[in-house]
Amino acid sequence: AVLVIGSANADLVVPVDHRPAGGETVLGGDTVLSPGGKGANTAVAAGRLGASVALLGAVGPDAYGTLLRDSLTGAGVSLDHLRTVDRPTGIAYITVTPDGENSILVSPGANSALSPSDITDAALSGASVVVLSLEVPLATVSHAVSRAAASGATVLLNLSPAALLPTETLSAVDVLLVNEHEAAYLLGSTSADLTGLLALGPRAAVVTLGARGAVVITPEGPTSVASPTVRALDTTGAGDAFAGALAASLASGLSLTEAAHRAAAVAAVSVTRAGAQPSYPTAAEVF
Ligand code: ADP
Repeated sequence: AVLVIGSANADLVVPVDHRPAGGETVLGGDTVLSPGGKGANTAVAAGRLGASVALLGAVGPDAYGTLLRDSLTGAGVSLDHLRTVDRPTGIAYITVTPDGENSILVSPGANSALSPSDITDAALSGASVVVLSLEVPLATVSHAVSRAAASGATVLLNLSPAALLPTETLSAVDVLLVNEHEAAYLLGSTSADLTGLLALGPRAAVVTLGARGAVVITPEGPTSVASPTVRALDTTGAGDAFAGALAASLASGLSLTEAAHRAAAVAAVSVTRAGAQPSYPTAAEVF
């Protein structure tokens, strides 16, 4: 089974001509509300592919918490380890300009309440793959990585949004998953040599390259993984689709390179449809 540890947010997306500057009021288009957050997205992507998956996270006792629970349940994700805490559900306030560029303000709310003590034996037991991302407190992520590694699970860390973690944490990671920007952040912008990611500690790394697919980096060297060519409509949540599909494929026993091929195919479908969670395909739609 797959255990995802991470955020759950309501995405509030507003189209605008331009973003408001300080002191300015701008009238935008209609708000589109959808379930999001890197953890919930990853869990929904894995669940829709048929994996047995649970989300360990936190939402608030409000309508957005219900929206997230419904979306997760609809994808077959177990809510056994999703706590309801006395903070508002996390919200991402997203403005999109006509050129397609997003500006995102995240109010983590309930996600901030996820603490090391939430990483229980009950949640870890039975998880062969544990996936983590960084919209929750870094101390919780570090603790969870070390507990998951000690339990014998394969630890997949999607280091997004990019942040610095202790060497001890990165050394306990089996697969470090980042996009090009996050890789550049970790390596220092001058380095183009992605194999340098292994020097940070993980056993292997996967760097996603948008339409160019991804590269799998192991001590034996890099392997390119192509993405199917598609007409991209909305790339929101593509990286999370990749993470969820990679985890589901690893849990089903595929090698890292085989899993990355499947993840690229799933993520490519997701960019042809609007939204994050609503865009994720079932296995039957991809393979
Ligand atoms: P992020 O969403 O984290 O920025 P990427 O942009 O690298 O990550 O996209 C993640 C994955 O989504 C890619 O590895 C690829 O498989 C798929 N993808 C993203 N954009 C496209 C695209 N324009 N065409 C085909 N596949 C895409």
